[in-house]
Amino acid sequence: MDKLTIRDFDPSGKRVLVRVDFNVPIEDGKVKDDSRIRATLPTLRYLLEHNASLVLMSHLGRPKGKVVESARLRPVAAWLSALLRLPVPVTGDALGVGTRDAVARLKPGQVLMLENLRFHSEEEQNDAEYATTLASYGDVFVNDAFGTAHRAHASTVGVAAHLPAYAGLLMEREIKALSSLLESPPRPFAAVIGGAKVSGKLGVLANLMERVDAFLIGGGMANTFLVAQGNSVGKSLLERDLVEDARRILETAERKGVQFVLPTDVLVAKEVTRGAEHKVVSVNKIPNSWSAVDIGPASREQFREALEPAQTIFWNGPLGVFEVPTFGDATRRMARYLAQRADDGATVIVGGGDSVAAVEELGLSGRMTHISTGGGASLEFLEGRELPGIAVLQNRLTEQPPVAAGRSAQKS
Ligand code: ADP
Ligand code: MG
Repeated sequence: MDKLTIRDFDPSGKRVLVRVDFNVPIEDGKVKDDSRIRATLPTLRYLLEHNASLVLMSHLGRPKGKVVESARLRPVAAWLSALLRLPVPVTGDALGVGTRDAVARLKPGQVLMLENLRFHSEEEQNDAEYATTLASYGDVFVNDAFGTAHRAHASTVGVAAHLPAYAGLLMEREIKALSSLLESPPRPFAAVIGGAKVSGKLGVLANLMERVDAFLIGGGMANTFLVAQGNSVGKSLLERDLVEDARRILETAERKGVQFVLPTDVLVAKEVTRGAEHKVVSVNKIPNSWSAVDIGPASREQFREALEPAQTIFWNGPLGVFEVPTFGDATRRMARYLAQRADDGATVIVGGGDSVAAVEELGLSGRMTHISTGGGASLEFLEGRELPGIAVLQNRLTEQPPVAAGRSAQKS
């Protein structure tokens, strides 16, 4: 990786401003899924073991520049405190004299969490003054919030104008895993893409087209491709204005010799709700008033066959409306199959909020090669775009001595 990480500076005695992604689901004042908190523990522990003090910054939910009581970070801090076995106080506000004093009192080995950054609209506006204040809380900046790296906010981009900026260990792991897909993935390389809409995934399809040996398309987005092939899809989710794009993608795949696997049968339901009447039909027999809600058993078998030779598999997007258990068969089977393939030595990377949730629900995340903590961020990364929160991290200089590395490095 060409970015400097926390292993590239001496944290001892430093006040480290760490951007984490603690945007976790909270229910009844308790953290419901702590995977994002756990994912950043290696970074926090490393820094604490090396005698740093930590000022943690995160957002939670979408308070849109106002104080929203239910979006306070206290439950997150309580959870983190239990994991670290250290007190984790939260400031009343990210700004203010009290916060400045609390930061000034921090001693090596201690942790302080700033209140939800998005209680100020300046955070998402990447406001220069807000960023300057945040930066004043630390000697160095560490970004471990891969899930927010596609956003140019004060805490992800603005602060890096004032402090030497390093990647945390989670950030490093994400960059390494996702770049391995773009750089030299063991072949054959197959991408399983599902989820709701083609529109959100056109960029990923285009960029991966240059790299994969096979695409397997399921979920709602398959419908647009099925229509491009001349089928009708009844009441199913369909992006009619993208049928032409879908047709072009199919042509490109054909021209490049990229295998393109679409479902041949689907589970259709009268309503997309729990308990609705449902049946399996061939894709050219989808009834007018029914919706495709999952890929069918024959398609599952074809997907599996197409994946059998793959040495690298990327999965994004559930293959059906998996939130309704009856429509989640293909998604659950895919998750189990991929866990097995990872056990057998294939590189299996799962990215995307809902697909990751499906894998986690089954308790399979530990068996995959890598589970990306960033939904939108991992997709933008795979589109081949440079994420602003990564771009501002210091580059590892290979030819030159590291004089110019830190923007705020002391001039001697
Ligand atoms: P991810 O978060 O993994 O990137 P998306 O957000 O793109 O995935 O898509 C997830 C959503 O897609 C889920 O809410 C799921 O219900 C929906 N979905 C999957 N298959 C279908 C389908 N056949 N029809 C409608 N929605 C679907
Ligand atoms: Mg999603």
